[in-house]
Amino acid sequence: MADELKTPVENAEMSSNFIHTFIEKDIAEGGDYCGKKVHTRFPPEPNGYLHIGHAKAICVDFGTALKFGGVCNLRMDDTNPTKEDVEYVDAIKEDIHWLGFDWEDRFYYASDYFDKMYECAVELIKKGLAYVCELTPDQMREYRGDLSTPAKSPYRDRPIEESLRLFEQMKNGEIEDGKMTLRAKIDLASGNFNMRDPVIYRMNRLHHHRTGDKWCIYPMYDFAHPIEDAMEGITHSLCTLEFEAHRPLYDWVIDNCTLPAKPRQIEFARLGINHTVMSKRKLRALVEGGYVSGWDDPRMPTLCGLRRRGYTPRSIRIFCDRIGVSKVNSTVEYAFLEHCLREDLNMTARRVMVVLDPIKLVITNYPEGQSETFEVENNPNNEADGNRAITFSRECFIERGDFMEEPIKKYQRLYPGNEVRLKSAYIVKCTGCKKDDDGNITEVYAEYDPETRGGNTPDGRKVRGTIHWVDAQNYVPVTVNLYDNLFSVAEPEANGADFLDSLNPDSLSVQSGCIAEKSIAEYDAPAHFQLMRTGYFCLDKDSTKENIILNRSVSLKDGFKK
Ligand code: ATP
Ligand code: MG
Repeated sequence: MADELKTPVENAEMSSNFIHTFIEKDIAEGGDYCGKKVHTRFPPEPNGYLHIGHAKAICVDFGTALKFGGVCNLRMDDTNPTKEDVEYVDAIKEDIHWLGFDWEDRFYYASDYFDKMYECAVELIKKGLAYVCELTPDQMREYRGDLSTPAKSPYRDRPIEESLRLFEQMKNGEIEDGKMTLRAKIDLASGNFNMRDPVIYRMNRLHHHRTGDKWCIYPMYDFAHPIEDAMEGITHSLCTLEFEAHRPLYDWVIDNCTLPAKPRQIEFARLGINHTVMSKRKLRALVEGGYVSGWDDPRMPTLCGLRRRGYTPRSIRIFCDRIGVSKVNSTVEYAFLEHCLREDLNMTARRVMVVLDPIKLVITNYPEGQSETFEVENNPNNEADGNRAITFSRECFIERGDFMEEPIKKYQRLYPGNEVRLKSAYIVKCTGCKKDDDGNITEVYAEYDPETRGGNTPDGRKVRGTIHWVDAQNYVPVTVNLYDNLFSVAEPEANGADFLDSLNPDSLSVQSGCIAEKSIAEYDAPAHFQLMRTGYFCLDKDSTKENIILNRSVSLKDGFKK
């Protein structure tokens, strides 16, 4: 299990929000939950991989429990048998653990309660609070009414005994699929359409991944969810805003069925992020359409994608905490997520030198066959990360862009006659370059100043540019994946647009033949690095000692405007 789990302190110290204020009142003297341990749950539907929106819900559900010394259950919402897959269940567990949260032995399936739900449905019929309705879906829509006209159903007043018998026949599969439903008898004239005798059970001869063919009736979410919560003794059922108008139904189910607890539903805003889409259905379309390499493609907003991209659990928790919990849906800038990652990696990532677009620099006055070593810091923000040795010799690789034969204005790197600092090594002065027959530059030449070892200028002369380099005698080749937004527009779905139309064709650029200092080969994925001037990178999960692959997690330049 993740090391992070040993220090979930930050989560217990989660910033205060309106949910906490409600709970504080609830558990205080005289409150509805006085003396009770705060008990929450995270209820994903296992029909895809978790995304950053789920991370917010996880931080709210688990974080709130931690804050109050309570507990949080993990429950697979598998009431809809069409889409579930065991692969997703395992991935969901892995992602939650990775984020740093744990449900211990409180792992459940909604389908664990199918018997209880059936029992509750029968109880409602017996109390005259539910009836079997034979309206077709089309008729149901037609009879739905509007704000000034109540809904209607000719089956509403059918005798209790008849509903009981028909419901039993539905359960036994003696009724055709779609022919009958069980509806709660609440209020056909309600201004809240969720209360206009909602369907609570429908027929569906579908195989269920856990209950097999035992059931051919399945409960609707609005009926099932409060029962699941009550059965697990949940005190606070935290969910997203779209369930606000369903709360009266949630409470109605709790009040009218015999259940062991009375949970309280509290809604908060969904997270949206620009330049991406955030629904499992759409993310699945990207995977199945081959637009990305899989659910864990580093461009995906899935937790496994972000992990592969180099996001740390802490950076995501910091992000979820800072965006806050509110009652208003809003879209957060992707740049803010990146900002949180930079902040975390700046403290923890090891510094290494990698040249992405190499060209050879020859130090013509450095003796052939000679070589020396420099001790450099692994991480200036953490002395405990120690030093490493890097070698230097007559030839090294630098970025092609760090030399210009004819410099543009304000260019401070290598051009004939100019001095730059080779990071941690020497000051060198450019003397020229070599070109091939087509005029392409193939080598750059410079002379070093032996008095400037370590990059210092004893005479105090000003050297403006500092560039990174890798010893040409001592390096490993690496492949580097550079990423850009998956969607080229900020709102891929604005005005009903098809998100597939704004996929960014340049969201991945693979650079092979990059040159890295050898120390990089000592790490295992997902080691995080800061490469001078080019960004934060991590080792890809498919990286091997023979074929090193680096993914750029985020560039160094912070695009987030505070
Ligand atoms: P999706 O459309 O991605 O499938 P969902 O809401 O149907 O989203 P569930 O698996 O049912 O996904 O979600 C589990 C929990 O995560 C729910 O409580 C839901 O409210 C929450 N959740 C899902 N998406 C977001 C989001 N973007 N922001 C905050 N919470 C979310
Ligand atoms: Mg869903």
